[in-house]
Amino acid sequence: MKKNYVIAYLTFAIVLALVAYYTMDTTEQAPVESEEQLTVNWSYDGETGPQQWMDVSADYAACGRGELQSPINIEVSNTAKEELDEEVKLNYEKALFEIENNGHTIEANSTTQDNSLMINDEEYKLTGIHFHSPSEHQINGQYFDMEAHLFHETKDGKMAIIGLFIESGEENKELAEMWANMPKDGAEAVKVLKNPINLEQLLPEEKNVYQYVGSLTSPPCTEGVNWFVLEQPIEMSNEQINQFSSIFLQNNRPIQQLNNRDVYKIELD
Ligand SMILES: [Zn+2]
Repeated sequence: MKKNYVIAYLTFAIVLALVAYYTMDTTEQAPVESEEQLTVNWSYDGETGPQQWMDVSADYAACGRGELQSPINIEVSNTAKEELDEEVKLNYEKALFEIENNGHTIEANSTTQDNSLMINDEEYKLTGIHFHSPSEHQINGQYFDMEAHLFHETKDGKMAIIGLFIESGEENKELAEMWANMPKDGAEAVKVLKNPINLEQLLPEEKNVYQYVGSLTSPPCTEGVNWFVLEQPIEMSNEQINQFSSIFLQNNRPIQQLNNRDVYKIELD
């Protein structure tokens, strides 16, 4: 009687183990499928360009059907004057980065965790900086030479991006080491920069920003992004701007409809 019980128990355990094994096997296959989806390619022109992003993958539907898309043209005379009941504060200091060419832009990933943007006591940590040429946002219908995006995220995935216009002028010393190590194509390995970038120093002195709710400007064009576009541009030499555009001649998404959105002008702390 006791022996039968043990045998039945063992059989049950073996069946359970087999079920577990095969379930594990299929979950191991799942990432391969999603990797294939990730390699579905989009671009800034041609058959997989911005007008077709929504057709490239079902995951990119927001790129075509969204109503809160970015970038936008900011008409200064149309910005909302009323005070927002919101406190936005920058906690920036020196940060270490590693840079890569992801085929769509140059991406500098922060390897330090100390930089953040606070929106009403909620912490959005800086995860990285990338660049567009020419700018994505417009002010009064005008493009700038380039635009940097400083990407921030909360623990539960809420996103905030600071848009930083770049115009031709003095050499930008804060970004000199990054530029000297810029990978020309995606085949080049990630490069670790030796010296930290002083983000406080990188930003313009005046911190007036245009704030609105928009989206990621590349697929999957996810909405609900808190945008803060700095009014005052920073400078880079012609040589620095040309170096970037020799790799990415044009990696900006066209201007999107504003629809019923308000754009506020506020000052960052
Ligand atoms: Zn961007």
